[in-house]
Amino acid sequence: MTAIHARLALLDGGWAEQVRLGIEDGIVVTVDRDARAEDADVRAGIVIPGLVNAHSHAFQRLLAGRTEQRGPGRDTFWTWRTRMYALARQVDAAVLETIATRVYTEMVATGYTTVAEFHYLHNEPGKTATGDAMFDALVAAAEASGIRLAYVPVLYERGGFDDGPPSDDQLRFVRKLDEFVAHYERVRAKAGASVSVGIGAHSLRAVRPASLQAVADIAARDEVPMHLHVAEQEREVDECLATFGTRPVAWLLDKMGVGANWCLVHATHLDGGETEALAASGAVVCLCPSTEANLGDGLFPLQPYLEAGGRIAIGSDSHVTVNPFEELRWLEYGQRLAMRTRNVAAVGRPETGRSLFEAALRGGAQAAGLSASGGLANGAPADLVVLDDDSPMLAGHSGRSLLDALVFSGFTLPIDRVMVAGAWQVEDGVHRAEASSAAAYTGLAKRIDLDEERP
Ligand code: ZN
Repeated sequence: MTAIHARLALLDGGWAEQVRLGIEDGIVVTVDRDARAEDADVRAGIVIPGLVNAHSHAFQRLLAGRTEQRGPGRDTFWTWRTRMYALARQVDAAVLETIATRVYTEMVATGYTTVAEFHYLHNEPGKTATGDAMFDALVAAAEASGIRLAYVPVLYERGGFDDGPPSDDQLRFVRKLDEFVAHYERVRAKAGASVSVGIGAHSLRAVRPASLQAVADIAARDEVPMHLHVAEQEREVDECLATFGTRPVAWLLDKMGVGANWCLVHATHLDGGETEALAASGAVVCLCPSTEANLGDGLFPLQPYLEAGGRIAIGSDSHVTVNPFEELRWLEYGQRLAMRTRNVAAVGRPETGRSLFEAALRGGAQAAGLSASGGLANGAPADLVVLDDDSPMLAGHSGRSLLDALVFSGFTLPIDRVMVAGAWQVEDGVHRAEASSAAAYTGLAKRIDLDEERP
């Protein structure tokens, strides 16, 4: 058994002092408060649970910083997507493994202990059906980085709401419904303690309603998370109104029986009725603040949604930044700028950083299909972060404001150690795969050329 003795730990029921956590087979098996340290214990200052990154497209990490030059017309999500497709054309299983190993390592180093990989890059370049090579690449990356992987294969079958055929670039993403379901069944059989499998659909524009229903039925049958991009762009809302006569989230709530196993990604453009009804559904909305800002998507109606009891998770999506505390900071700052007020997300308790952290912890666990609340408790996965007790960033803070300090104090995170499934991945502030993942990624990034692909 591994034991950690913490001066201060954020447990399921709140902060506690002099906590001794016993860990066996990747699970927390004992939680003792006001406990004395024993000789063999790992001494920790402050322990908090790891967070779930509930929405990732690992390959897009290589796009960060490469889409920030203004083009001849108006740059939008749709011009960005052209560049993303230019990258996707060059991503085979080996390239995916290199990028994913790097970005997953970065995630663990910043305190994410689980990633939900929303995966639609099913086919390798030049091939229409290559079995499970891309899944195998993601599993290898998860193992190399030590992150817990919630693999979410998503269905992609058409070019848009008009039911048009996929473009040449989109052929990389397309599998027929029966082929897609066969892939899901195969990878489910390969899942293990640190790899789970959910299911999803790319978006309302990329799948037919009957196929979406079929995928949702599988999710309900197997009690796995069901993920979907929705209402990220106003154009999608307009096209949905023109096609179905109703807004995307209203249509989903009406037709698809959205419930607690659903994770709606973005859901940026909601009217008041959708906001209330979505909160009441028990579903999770995965917000991706740095990507949504980078792409100019818009702002989610956070305060009315939280006040109605809505659940949120966070995701780093395109990975323009990989830092959960920065995502939470941006989530709050966007709202402050729009509403010209402060402490918007502090709904139900006064501390904003802690409110954001705990909402993302609970919602992330739900979105990834993890059992329980995501917090540290007896029987919970041993996924945790040890903060540096000597950090100037945390000096003078008690439990009451520690998470506020982490969210609102800047970039350099005072992370000493990170454990996933009972194994240390980060020690003395350094991830065990930091050097190897950086070397492989650097070599690749110098080879991949997107400039020729500029439209
Ligand atoms: Zn996405």
